[in-house]
Amino acid sequence: MNFVAGKTGWIEVICGPMFSGKSEELIRRLRRAMIARQRVQVFKPVLDNRYSADEIVSHGELRMKSEVVEDASEILTRLDWRTEVLGIDEANFLGQELIPVVTQLADSGKQVIVSGLDTDYMGRPFPPIPDLLCLAESIAKTLAICMRCGAPAKHTQRLVDSDELIVVGAAGIYEARCRRCFEPGVPKQGYLEFARPGGSAVQGGSASR
Ligand code: ADP
Ligand code: ZN
Repeated sequence: MNFVAGKTGWIEVICGPMFSGKSEELIRRLRRAMIARQRVQVFKPVLDNRYSADEIVSHGELRMKSEVVEDASEILTRLDWRTEVLGIDEANFLGQELIPVVTQLADSGKQVIVSGLDTDYMGRPFPPIPDLLCLAESIAKTLAICMRCGAPAKHTQRLVDSDELIVVGAAGIYEARCRRCFEPGVPKQGYLEFARPGGSAVQGGSASR
């Protein structure tokens, strides 16, 4: 291992549901490091090619150049060992294999900033984020706004019919929901509009507003 003399590394985790600003926060932290002339490398899994093949892009259209990796171990082979700060977006697509990679990088004196979904479409903890939260020096949980009632949203609601753990997409396929409005899996079409003031349950009809 290539230890950088005198340097201490650490792990920062940014987690939360989709649309909560994880990518925005990751880009903000990486920009600061670049302004301070630190050497930065940004990685994202090949699976996340929603907006751009070689950039991380937030839902609010912030962009930053990134390198695409097939799996977690490719981060080590693509790493320039002069790099001081690493950003890893969409970590939930890289699996538990990311844990030893991130640990090795931090032990080698790197600042590693990892961003990813902490729960899946069923509301279950989404590996490898739970373990990373325990291993990290710093953790941040970002929240979105519930698209049904406006409360703080910690869930990613899937809107299309699929039992696959990974269905890549953004608006129209997923939306942010609070714990009360979240329906694990696919929402039922006859939606209980309990959030509507004085409202009674809607019989059948669309789940959209
Ligand atoms: P993440 O990486 O967590 O998916 P992004 O950083 O890509 O989030 O996008 C965050 C942006 O998404 C917000 O600044 C806002 O422009 C937009 N957005 C869309 N839907 C919502 C929502 N329900 N709540 C908050 N922000 C939303
Ligand atoms: Zn809600």
